[in-house]
Amino acid sequence: MNAIDLRKVTGTARLQALRIVLIGPPGAGKGTQASVLRERYGLAHISTGDMLREEVRRETALGLQARSLMAAGQLVPDTLILDMMSQRLQQPDVARGFLLDGFPRSRAQGQALVATLGQLKQPLHAVIQLDLEDEEIVRRLSLRRSCPSCGRVYHLQTNPPTLHGLCDSDGAALQHREDDNEQTIRTRLSVFHQQTRPVIEFFRSLGLLRTLDASLPIEHVQHLVERHLRAAMVRNSPLSTSRRFAVTRYRSLGKVSR
Ligand code: ADP
Ligand code: AMP
Repeated sequence: MNAIDLRKVTGTARLQALRIVLIGPPGAGKGTQASVLRERYGLAHISTGDMLREEVRRETALGLQARSLMAAGQLVPDTLILDMMSQRLQQPDVARGFLLDGFPRSRAQGQALVATLGQLKQPLHAVIQLDLEDEEIVRRLSLRRSCPSCGRVYHLQTNPPTLHGLCDSDGAALQHREDDNEQTIRTRLSVFHQQTRPVIEFFRSLGLLRTLDASLPIEHVQHLVERHLRAAMVRNSPLSTSRRFAVTRYRSLGKVSR
């Protein structure tokens, strides 16, 4: 099944493609949650960080422009990111719904995303903010390790692989990202506070923002994320629309008390 089956949630037979943004500081757990949601709901997981690292690895023109900015913990310019994303959002897998991770990261990116999806008549359903304090982020990222082949993420203390240094899923040697050192982590945090917080406020003003406490254990965060997803599905379901219509109509007939 390629889209979320609303029958489980609303009792209707309609399938719905969910369009979700996971937003929060680096290290809040966006990738960790996205990999679970991708598998469980069949959503495309679109991580601009992963896409850029692939461009760097392939030494493309974009990769060569992005490399030093990424190593320094600075944002890659909006025009480059928006070009990359406009191509990605035209891929066929996007039609079944997607999870954006690490994008948008500036107000200009947020506005461009909302405008593009509006033109495509495919608006976002929800923006889920993973909230976490800076010192916990430094602890998490300093000990993060990731699998270069499948992207699975570990933490050496709280979420270690079964065999030291090797991915549980495919046995590949785990890597320590170049930008996961304390100095660059602190730069990335300050970039987050200066440039990404405004886009969070932008989404709040659109009524799309749902915030959760990302310091909770992974399974608990997952439970909260799924609760927000279910709420977004119900809000956008045909049943919910007809329910609202019926209630409004009954109220207007004076048959339902407020
Ligand atoms: P992001 O994608 O937001 O940068 P990651 O998903 O890569 O963050 O997670 C950063 C680090 O924190 C990883 O080492 C991961 O194993 C760990 N982590 C993720 N979620 C939690 C959590 N809820 N509690 C403790 N550690 C977590
Ligand atoms: P991430 O994997 O999300 O932590 O991103 C790693 C790095 O890639 C960031 O520190 C930025 O340099 C760059 N990057 C990722 N996504 C974006 C984006 N949406 N806008 C600008 N730069 C980005």
